[in-house]
Amino acid sequence: MTDDPREPQSTPSGLDVSKPTIARAYDALLGGKDNYTADRELANYAIEHIPGLQESAHENRKVLVRGVRHLAGEAGIDQFLDLGSGLPTVQNTHQVAQEINPAARVVYIDIDPLVHVHGQAILADNPNTRVGTGDVRDFRGILTDSDVTGLIDFDRPVAVMLVGMLHYLSPDIADEVVSAYRDALAPGSYLFLTSLADTGLPAQQELARITRENLEEGWARTPSEIEHHFGDFELIDPGVVYTALWRPEGPKDPDTLAPGEQLGMAGIARKR
Ligand code: SAM
Repeated sequence: MTDDPREPQSTPSGLDVSKPTIARAYDALLGGKDNYTADRELANYAIEHIPGLQESAHENRKVLVRGVRHLAGEAGIDQFLDLGSGLPTVQNTHQVAQEINPAARVVYIDIDPLVHVHGQAILADNPNTRVGTGDVRDFRGILTDSDVTGLIDFDRPVAVMLVGMLHYLSPDIADEVVSAYRDALAPGSYLFLTSLADTGLPAQQELARITRENLEEGWARTPSEIEHHFGDFELIDPGVVYTALWRPEGPKDPDTLAPGEQLGMAGIARKR
């Protein structure tokens, strides 16, 4: 218990809330309630230094929703492996996918144990969705985990999502990790990536620096570095672009993007 009215009223035992985590700081940026003082302090510090940071977090959620709608709808995908899924918020992957296809199966994996705690609570009545704690870098463990293989059939098309997650994989291991997930997929599968971008804007490197210094991981990537992670998968239109420009719901002028619309990039590609 705490006297701060913004603090969650119960803290799962063993949880260290003295230091910020990526999932909780991101939740604070999105205006969620599953975060603690240290997470909010980091979020506020970053907001002060990076113009449009909160808008950028919301843009990332919006493109996640548009991407999952496309995958569950037009692309006909009914299995989703959402890696680095984050704390439950509004319009989570399973809600978006199952609104289109109630039989869609979704497995969430996140390194932050709080994701499992809060995820379990909202998934109790949903046999087609599971949430597990795991490190995306441990691809062998995740791809053979019985919670994953119990719901996802890798002999059929799957959408693997590393949304808002790629920039937490250090460049020296990212290739091996992302290609392992690509290799595990059947033809017709999809890879959905969003990442902190490096298009030469100082705020992008500044955000990477703040993230690395406070959360250990954080690397901005150029559009061609992001594209590289799709391997020989076929990028669907419009390719790797700022998240706000990835199939926006209304007209969007690329020449008048706000600062928060120029922090992250998104792309989806299909395995031939
Ligand atoms: N995918 C969600 C979204 O786009 O809204 C959440 C993105 S949040 C910025 C990044 C998430 O990746 C956090 O929840 C964090 O805990 C998780 N994460 C970071 N590194 C990870 C790793 N090595 N393995 C699993 N999850 C990781």
